[in-house]
Amino acid sequence: MGIDKRHATSNPPMPRGLMDALQEGVLVADSDGRVLDANAAAAIILGLNREELIGGQLDAPVRGATTIDGTPFPREDRPSVIAARTGRPASAVVGLRSETSEPLWLRLSATPVPPADGANDEPGRPAVIMTMVDVTAELLRADELRRSEERFRLTFEDAAIGMAIVSLDGRFLQVNQALVQSLGIPRAELLALTFQEITHPDDIDADLEQVALLLDGTIQGYQMDKRYMRPSGSVIRARLTVSLAHDATGAPLHFISQVEDVTAVRRAQDVLEHRALYDHLTGLANRSLLLDRLNHALAMHARNDKLVAVVFADLDHFKRINDSLGHDAGDRMLRIVADRMRTSVRPGDTVARIGGDEFVVVLEQIDSADQAGELLQRIQTSVELPLQLDGHLLLPAMSAGLTVDDGSGDALRVLRDADTAMYVAKNAGRGRWVAFREEHRRAAIDRLSVQGDLRAAIEHGDFELHYQPVVELASRDVSGYEALVRWHHPERGLVLPDSFIAIADDADLTPELGTWVLREAVSFLARHPGLPGRVYVNVSPRELGRVSLTAEDGTEPRPSGLARLIAQTLEAQGVDPSRLGIEIAEVGVLEATEHTRAELASIARLGVTVLLDDFGTGYSALLSALAAPVAGLKLDRSFTARLGEGGAADRVSSAIAAVVAAVGGYGIAAGLETEEQAAAALAHGWKHGQGWLFGPPLPEGLMTRLDAPHE
Ligand code: C2E
Ligand code: MG
Repeated sequence: MGIDKRHATSNPPMPRGLMDALQEGVLVADSDGRVLDANAAAAIILGLNREELIGGQLDAPVRGATTIDGTPFPREDRPSVIAARTGRPASAVVGLRSETSEPLWLRLSATPVPPADGANDEPGRPAVIMTMVDVTAELLRADELRRSEERFRLTFEDAAIGMAIVSLDGRFLQVNQALVQSLGIPRAELLALTFQEITHPDDIDADLEQVALLLDGTIQGYQMDKRYMRPSGSVIRARLTVSLAHDATGAPLHFISQVEDVTAVRRAQDVLEHRALYDHLTGLANRSLLLDRLNHALAMHARNDKLVAVVFADLDHFKRINDSLGHDAGDRMLRIVADRMRTSVRPGDTVARIGGDEFVVVLEQIDSADQAGELLQRIQTSVELPLQLDGHLLLPAMSAGLTVDDGSGDALRVLRDADTAMYVAKNAGRGRWVAFREEHRRAAIDRLSVQGDLRAAIEHGDFELHYQPVVELASRDVSGYEALVRWHHPERGLVLPDSFIAIADDADLTPELGTWVLREAVSFLARHPGLPGRVYVNVSPRELGRVSLTAEDGTEPRPSGLARLIAQTLEAQGVDPSRLGIEIAEVGVLEATEHTRAELASIARLGVTVLLDDFGTGYSALLSALAAPVAGLKLDRSFTARLGEGGAADRVSSAIAAVVAAVGGYGIAAGLETEEQAAAALAHGWKHGQGWLFGPPLPEGLMTRLDAPHE
């Protein structure tokens, strides 16, 4: 007992009170490894009473301990063993397992106590102090950190998007495979570069701005779209996400950048965007880009003293090209016209296609309405150059409206006014341009109401035909009549065709109107079997070429469309085809295509005479115009009015009359008002004439000698 007492009390390495104040567990043992003393913390850590510890073996609690790898901890590596062997402190981390709880990890440190008197192996004398610290939590934390680092490393390296750790001055410290690949720069080279060196010059400032905000703590991270330059010179477009890593003290450490290569996505977006703003057929601006540019131009010109001009242009009779040559040819024509427009404007002007054959041109920095007119004239001249399409020589014509605005106008209104002026140009005979005036607006409103009224009139048959005689010039005998339609308008009274045919054409109402006219003219013929000569009905080109004329079995095509309508109408009324003629404007036939020609041929085969109306206003080569199925032509009133003046009209008139006579055609000089004109026409070789001189168009009820040949 005395020994024990002596050991426990006479030679303590540390007073007990002091030992118990320590966080670490402390065991004191003699050279035999017998525990002489233990502090409170040691008892708690090892889960034993102090009494159970004292007197026991120092290494008893760590028997069965494991290393970090989970293998049994070798005896010779125990700190106490090493310390005893070397006389120097030693430490190690060991794991203590119990059946029930998680392993307990202790850092054991054994420190030899130097003998006071040289007798250091004396039993009962403190020879070693063993301290122990519970490092379980610390180890778990370290393990977690290691795992998360590993996770990061794997994520970083295997990420599908490019990632980089970038130093605060922009050097790439670490880059992943995806980044290497999308930048097309080998890893080693990339690690020698800064992000500034591979950023597109236009994007550097924006990037550096964000970096500054990130570094001064204003923002926690940023995302931006930017471009990088590849060594090949190509550009990659990326979505960059940058955050900042901090060290334990909160000081910035490095950037973590994610670089998502969105080149392909952006390219697809560009295509979509382009589609959203440009016409796919011609590559011109579309309606929304046009409005955007126009708004912009107006806003800009509101601040200077220049003007914005808007041209609204529409191709004349384009529908016929489509109907007859096919949409493919129509598309090609639109592309040609688009190119012509594009090359005839100045840089900075906008050319747009906003509908089938509707184009709008915005001319900026204009000094005067006159200058706008000159520029428009230049566009028109270039558009109207002849062009070849599938072996056909076409003469495109364009009608246009022009508005000029000082910038105070509203884009939609300016556009609408130009559109209105374009309609005025169409109605004035197409192939021309008109500058918008206020009164046109009124007319536009009228036109709309006329369209509505016309539909109703066609349903109700509120029309009447007047007949104007055609005479043999030499004898003045009536050789036929032209049927001219009139409209009984409920408010406006009798309306003449010039103020509604074009509108009916635009609204695609001419076929219905034509059907009414044809029926009425044929029943007129049926009512008057003794009428001298034919009745000529005017046919709008729109009524032709509406159906396919190709016979499926390769035989002669059967009449269809207008030809069939004519045949049926004549038959229903029992009228001989030789008593009917049709007049079709020269321009209609000029643009005619195989369809139209075939249809005219079918009509001619019925025995119905086909005449070219308003001859001289188009550009037809005379002889080809007179080729079958056309039987003759009417000289346009614009020439007749100037007959006898000895000018160009006389020369044209006599030339045309000579050719008509040479091919045995039927020629009528239309619009003869005076005896002088009639004499000139006769002298030029015209056999027939028509005009107020011989009688105005009259309704059936006012016509005389209807049933007896004129003497
Ligand atoms: P158009 O075929 O050239 O018809 C001749 C026009 O000249 C008629 O005008 C007639 O009244 C007018 N006219 C006749 N003699 C003289 C004259 O000596 N001097 C003058 N200055 N004019 C004369 P209207 O009836 O107003 O018809 C105008 C145009 O409307 C016609 O021109 C024709 O192209 C079209 N049109 C008339 N009826 C029909 C129809 O039923 N269907 C279609 N599609 N168009 C029609
Ligand atoms: Mg006519």
